[in-house]
Amino acid sequence: MGYLKSTPDRNGFFGEYGGADLPPPLVPHFKEITEAYDRIAHSAEFIRDLRYIRKHFQGRPTPISYLKNLSDDCGGAQIYAKREDLNHTGAHKLNHCMAEALLAKFMGKKKLMAETGAGQHGVALATAAAYFGLECEIHMGEIDIAKEAPNVTRMKLLGAEVVPVGFGGRSLKEAVDSCFQSYIGQADTALFAIGSVVGPHPFPRMVRDFQHVVGIEAREQFIEMTGGLPDIVAACVGGGSNAMGLFAGFIEDPDVTLYGVEPLGTSSKLGDHAATITYGEDGMIHGFRTMVLRDENGEPAPVHTVASGLDYPGVGPEHAHLYRTGRANYTAANDKEALNAFYQLSRREGIIPALESAHAVAFAMREAKNHPGKTILLNLSGRGDKDIDYVTETYGFSVE
Ligand SMILES: *Cc1c(COP(=O)(O)O)cnc(C)c1O
Repeated sequence: MGYLKSTPDRNGFFGEYGGADLPPPLVPHFKEITEAYDRIAHSAEFIRDLRYIRKHFQGRPTPISYLKNLSDDCGGAQIYAKREDLNHTGAHKLNHCMAEALLAKFMGKKKLMAETGAGQHGVALATAAAYFGLECEIHMGEIDIAKEAPNVTRMKLLGAEVVPVGFGGRSLKEAVDSCFQSYIGQADTALFAIGSVVGPHPFPRMVRDFQHVVGIEAREQFIEMTGGLPDIVAACVGGGSNAMGLFAGFIEDPDVTLYGVEPLGTSSKLGDHAATITYGEDGMIHGFRTMVLRDENGEPAPVHTVASGLDYPGVGPEHAHLYRTGRANYTAANDKEALNAFYQLSRREGIIPALESAHAVAFAMREAKNHPGKTILLNLSGRGDKDIDYVTETYGFSVE
């Protein structure tokens, strides 16, 4: 049996990582989600509906672009980008949000719920809810609400209820706690739609499967464009959904080297980065076993990166597994490298990338010169419109 069919196992374990450690009232609800997903994953109707949405609403397939100017600048490998920035709403997140909403519809749920940090997952989920005529409840820390006003406006325009979270650090971690609490009271009629390949089983597997479309398209397109497979496939890793989607397309091709790129922030000191696999250790977070960044008290450590979508002290369990087995490699790019890539891709290729995606671009720029005659395919997970004000107000029009 191939890797994707056999992993995770029936209990949601990728090797020793994953699983589901839930508060007792949620156990039956996650079982219901798992059973529903097992059913619909093989349902011709679900697959047909999802295909229709991908094509006629999201605008898939997204293309692969050959980054000729950037390749010439770097010297060495030829660099290509899978253009998830051209997916509706400007990032890969809609791939799993539309599918989660379709699942909710099949399960007869009336509402989608989630937490959001910078608001990207909230906007994607609110979009899916609007499309399907579902209610949407998004929990967001008060600090983030103040920082990310345009995304709050977007969610409200799309008809979502934004619940401000005012306790503790008033940010992403508290938003997760608040959303879980609210979900426990209405799990009969709502679906908690987790925003990456994280959380208790079945979400890491389900979100990977929903993102797999990126890798399936990319493999076919890359062969059509170049006549062969890429030598290196790279993507940024926050929770790890855009990376798993692209990796899944190539994971059964042993000659393709996979690289996950974590955010190294401002330094390798705990608190200055969010490079969980690079500097973390095994542990539990939010109901599953994975690698985590912990402080001296064993609590999830504070994290920093210029890309708020990568700001998480854990990582999807499948990435921890691929790291331990050696099937994928993990490295990191710091804020400055990501900013430099952000400017260079904009100026040299006419593509303004999300700061998250800029980490993958930075890796390709750094790595290209070590691989003359080879090819690198990176995932451009999202567009950078959301970042332009922050970047130019803070750094101007170039780094240094
Ligand atoms: C949210 C986000 C990410 C990080 O999420 P993953 O689950 O690690 O993919 C990366 N890129 C963009 C554009 C995002 O919005």
